[in-house]
Amino acid sequence: MKRTIRDLADLEGKVVLLREDFNVPLDDAGKILDTTRIVNAIPTIQYLSDKKAKVVILSHLGRPKGYEIRKSLWPVAMFLTKKLKCNVTFSNSVLGPEVEERISMMDNGDVLLLENVRFYEGETTCDMKFAKELASLGKIFVNDAFGVAHRQNASNYGVARLLPNAIGLLMEKEINELSQVMESPKKPFVAVIGGAKVDTKVKILNKFIDKADVIIIGGAMAYTFLQAKGKGIGASIVYPESLDIAREIMFNAKENGKKLLLPIDHVCARARDKKQKAITTDKIVEDMVGYDIGPKTIELFSKEIENAGQIFWNGPMGMYENAKFRKGTAKIAQAIANSKAYSVVGGGDSVAAVNLLNLGSKMNYISTGGGATLKFLENGSLPAIEVIQEKIL
Ligand code: ADP
Ligand code: MG
Repeated sequence: MKRTIRDLADLEGKVVLLREDFNVPLDDAGKILDTTRIVNAIPTIQYLSDKKAKVVILSHLGRPKGYEIRKSLWPVAMFLTKKLKCNVTFSNSVLGPEVEERISMMDNGDVLLLENVRFYEGETTCDMKFAKELASLGKIFVNDAFGVAHRQNASNYGVARLLPNAIGLLMEKEINELSQVMESPKKPFVAVIGGAKVDTKVKILNKFIDKADVIIIGGAMAYTFLQAKGKGIGASIVYPESLDIAREIMFNAKENGKKLLLPIDHVCARARDKKQKAITTDKIVEDMVGYDIGPKTIELFSKEIENAGQIFWNGPMGMYENAKFRKGTAKIAQAIANSKAYSVVGGGDSVAAVNLLNLGSKMNYISTGGGATLKFLENGSLPAIEVIQEKIL
C-alpha cells in the first residue's frame, strides 16, 4: 500500500508540491466546460491547506507546443479561488524568480497554482534536470494526478524520485475503486466496452475475458469484430490491423466459456448523404455506415446489464455527440444507472456522455482517467504510482 497524505506528519509551514490533473476542456473564451477533475481534487488540496502546508500545485493542460495562451491554467486558478476556503494565487511560470518570490510570500495554508508544466520541453521527456528544478521548490511531493499516472513525466514521476512523497486522496480513491473492479467483482461481472481505438483497448478485452462473465462490445469497435466474423458492415469504421486480434479475442472468450455480445442491429446513415438520415437495420449495405446500436441490440445488452452484480463501462455505444446517434449510448447508460449492480465508468468520452445525460449521480464510481483507467485495470498499477513510497506499517 502506498503512503498517503494522511500518513504525513508535521506539514505545518512546509512547501508541499502537489501534482494534480487539471487537464480540463476549455472553450475559446477560456471557460471551463467540465470542472469534474478540479472538483475531485479539492479534498486533497483542502486537506493539505487545513494542515497548514504551503500548497504549490503542478498540472498540465492539453498538448501545447511551447507556450500557448489557450492552454494556460489561469482559468483553473480562478475556479479554485471560488471553491477553496483558503488564499489562492497563480504564477505565470513554473520555474524562476516569479515562482520563488510567490512561494516566499505564502502564508501557511495558502495555495499557489503554477502555469502549465507542458509549456516546458522537459516535462514529457521526463528530463531529470527539469525534475530537479521542480523538486527544489518544495520539501514533499504529493501525486494526486491519476489521469496522467500512466505517463512518466517530470512533474509526476521524475519529482517523485527526488523528494519524500505520498499519494493524494483522489489517487487513493481511484486505486481502491479500480483495484476492486478486478480483484473482487460482484458476479455476474459485465464489462461494457465501446468507443473507437480498438488498438488501445484490445489488451483490456483479453483481461476482461479472464475476469468478467459477460463482455459487451458496441460502438465503432464492434465493426472490427463483426467484420472478423464475416458479417457485412458496409462502410462502417474498421481497424484492419486489429482484425486478427478481434478473432483471437472471440476465440479466447469461447475457450473460456465467457459470453461475448456484439450488436445485432444498427442505426446507419449513408456515407455520402449530407442529411445523415438515420436508418435502423439488421444488415448494413455497401455504402452505409453504422453509427449507433439498434433497438434489438439495446434490448439484448440491457438484459445482461439488468442482471449484473458489477458493471465496468468504457466507451460510448455510438457517435453520441450527434443527437441522431445518441440513443444507444443513452439507453445503455440509463440501464447501467437503473441496475442494482456496482457500476464503475471510465474513459473521457464515456464520462462526458454520462454527464451529458445527467446520470453521474446514479453511477457508483466515475474514474477521472481515460487511458490511465484502462492501463490500471490492465496492470494493477501505473508507473507514477509505483514510484511512490510504500506505507510504513
Ligand atoms: P472513451 O474516451 O470513453 O475511452 P473512445 O475515445 O474510445 O471512448 O471513443 C469515443 C468516440 O467514439 C466518440 O467520439 C464517438 O463518436 C466515437 N464512436 C463511437 N461509436 C462510433 C461509430 N459507430 N462510428 C463512429 N464513431 C463512433
Ligand atoms: Mg476518448
